[in-house]
Amino acid sequence: MKNNDVAVTEKKKNNKALIIAGPCSAETETQVMNIAKFLAASGKVDLFRAGIWKPRTRPGSFEGVGSIGLKWLRQVKEEYGLPCCTEVATAKHVYEALKYNIDTLWIGARTTTNPFALQEIATALRGSKINVMIKNPLNPDIELWTGAIERIMKANVGQVSLIHRGFSIYEKHVYRNAPYWEISIELHKRFPELPLICDPSHLGGDKKYLYEISSKAIELGYDGLMVETHPNPESALSDAKQQITGEEFLYLLEQLAITTHDERLNPIHKLRRTIDVIDDNLLDMIEQRMEVAKRIGKMKKYNNQKVIQRSRWNQVMLRLTHKGKEKGLSDALIKHVFTAIHEESIRNQTEIVD
Ligand code: PEP
Ligand code: MN
Repeated sequence: MKNNDVAVTEKKKNNKALIIAGPCSAETETQVMNIAKFLAASGKVDLFRAGIWKPRTRPGSFEGVGSIGLKWLRQVKEEYGLPCCTEVATAKHVYEALKYNIDTLWIGARTTTNPFALQEIATALRGSKINVMIKNPLNPDIELWTGAIERIMKANVGQVSLIHRGFSIYEKHVYRNAPYWEISIELHKRFPELPLICDPSHLGGDKKYLYEISSKAIELGYDGLMVETHPNPESALSDAKQQITGEEFLYLLEQLAITTHDERLNPIHKLRRTIDVIDDNLLDMIEQRMEVAKRIGKMKKYNNQKVIQRSRWNQVMLRLTHKGKEKGLSDALIKHVFTAIHEESIRNQTEIVD
């Protein structure tokens, strides 16, 4: 490790990491909501990412779902309490994202390379107080990255952060992009107050490098990680090779043994997010139970059987109070919850007409 690196490590070694996760691209509402639900329930994620306007190197690749994705991000925030971020590359993107109260925007590597685009975005952001993360430019040019940061900071936005995603070079590198760690460390010296986040997904370009790149970033004292996670990475419409499932992502965090920012900042908020997701699951289960009860109701009607069958209900309650006891749940709770559910089932069965 070089001297520079040691200085950064010393400065931040006690800090906890800010964790950003989510798919490379928002593809469908279901895909976005599924992965967001999983990540929210984990309580390990500070910020949900999903690209909706995708800058693609070649035409004909998936270019993102566009503004409809903003609705899905808003839904992620409302339903799971996860703040969201997305990439903007034009002033129009900024205006759209502001309309939907997206929490944080990021400027992609291709855009950071272009001072005209940067200025247009900075002007659109002026005074908005939204947080902005600035990825390094494609080429290993520290001045270009510095210029982009200065333009955005002059726009008087919210928190500005830096994302290191590696650099395109002509020579072949084992990673998708050459890291040149020394550039981001030097840049961080110029802006020591700005959080420095590593994006091991775009840096490595393959999920097999996520662990080694993330550990290196942590060792260097980076403030956070942005990791692409997808419910079904093999079928992802962009960057399939570098995305991982929610379970793989949790395993990665466990391997890295980092404590998330979220845990430090707001433990109650994190636990409440988990409660909300559990409540959602309970509602889904009750809905399923009602569907089965209705099917039973139809059979009872067909066979001319009574809707209420006391002996069956007594058996159910006996089994549940017994199981509840094993789980440390009181008889009163089991009685209340299941009596209410049972009454609803009976009501549904009585209402069956044909
Ligand atoms: C992205 O984060 O989805 C993205 C396009 O990244 P980059 O700008 O680093 O290529
Ligand atoms: Mn991507």
